[in-house]
Amino acid sequence: MPDFKTSPGTRDILAPHSARWRAFQEVFAKTVESAGYNYIIPPMFEDLDVFLRLGEATEVVTKEMYDFHDKGGRHVALRPEQTASVCRAFVEHRPVTPWKVWYSGPNFRYEKPQQGRYRQFDQVGIEALGVDDAFLDAEVIALASMFYSALGLNHVELSINTLGDGGDREAYSNLLAKYFSKHESSLTAESKATLTRNPLRVLDSKREPDQEIIAGAPAIRESISKQSADHFAAVLSALDALNISYKINDRLVRGLDYYRRTTFEFVSTALDAAHTAIGGGGRYDGLVEALGGPATSGIGFALGLDRTLLACDAEGVFAAPQTDVDVFVVDTVDGTHAHDLCHQLRANGFSADRAYDLRSIKAQMKSADRSGARVALIIGSDEVANSTIMLRPMGSGEQYVVSRKDIFNELKKVLK
Ligand code: AMP
Repeated sequence: MPDFKTSPGTRDILAPHSARWRAFQEVFAKTVESAGYNYIIPPMFEDLDVFLRLGEATEVVTKEMYDFHDKGGRHVALRPEQTASVCRAFVEHRPVTPWKVWYSGPNFRYEKPQQGRYRQFDQVGIEALGVDDAFLDAEVIALASMFYSALGLNHVELSINTLGDGGDREAYSNLLAKYFSKHESSLTAESKATLTRNPLRVLDSKREPDQEIIAGAPAIRESISKQSADHFAAVLSALDALNISYKINDRLVRGLDYYRRTTFEFVSTALDAAHTAIGGGGRYDGLVEALGGPATSGIGFALGLDRTLLACDAEGVFAAPQTDVDVFVVDTVDGTHAHDLCHQLRANGFSADRAYDLRSIKAQMKSADRSGARVALIIGSDEVANSTIMLRPMGSGEQYVVSRKDIFNELKKVLK
């Protein structure tokens, strides 16, 4: 038999970790729904063209896409992120603006797998379309920050920058192209290659030999329009009003090509070097238009679930929630009593599990132990004859008889 294993860069998320994932999504839902964002479930694959609108210089599109021809001959791709799908949905359904949505789910990128970097990875995120107001930029950032606090994280730093509007970005890109070309001979081979594709991304290089040249590069703030500069100032003052601290990082350009104006990233200072970025986002005015819709501004963020949970581990917060059942039923007669009682317990709001295959009382008690239940309910022939149940609070070494008709009330008291 072949040795079946998960494909590289994918994982099975098992208990108790899986419960933590679900709790993560629930905390996120609560945070963003408190600000009027509605849940959207976009498809996991789209026509390749949708993602190509993210830009030819965007690495997740050019290098990392899972694309293939389906049986109908359509060229489709698994989503590498969800903003493009949300914008496609906006163009398709034309909802009333402002359109505020949140999402949660897996994305696919053909990357080199390592800790905190997978080929299938989950993100949660929000997008708000149709509003230019700087207060919205600050709201979006504040919600991410509120979410981190709700998880219990204390060591998350916000970096923020502006990329100017479309024209500014293009002019800056040309300026950088000129600057880096002048210093090309000192750049690493990787950065030289990046330079031909997208000069802005050279700023992202973490390679040591590039650092001195990057440090001397012009900053975009020096060349943006007054309108963009005013917008950025308004965002910063709205953040100040909420006491949200930030660092302006004029080297922050981020991966995706479509970002305009406000761009931001959250970094966990509790994590070591390689993957400290736990989330980020920005404005993407222009993407809806590129997908065939009316000129519509947009802003959002995506937070990586894996890396945020790694940050939680590093800070010792947001442990996996308990998912153990309340009650374990042990039936030493014939199994039918456990069958009936479990069903009634569940119907009455208690979580309950049982042993199967009529095993010995010793084996069943062992299963009760392993289940994590706080109470075992034991039914033997005496209990059946007397319409009673033996109640044993686990780990107490004690047990007592309860009349069958009083069992729910007694459990309520014991499990309080
Ligand atoms: P991006 O969509 O590239 O802006 O990434 C947003 C966040 O998603 C990052 O800050 C990471 O936390 C997470 N992320 C991106 N790519 C991966 C990956 N391959 N594996 C795990 N997390 C990822």
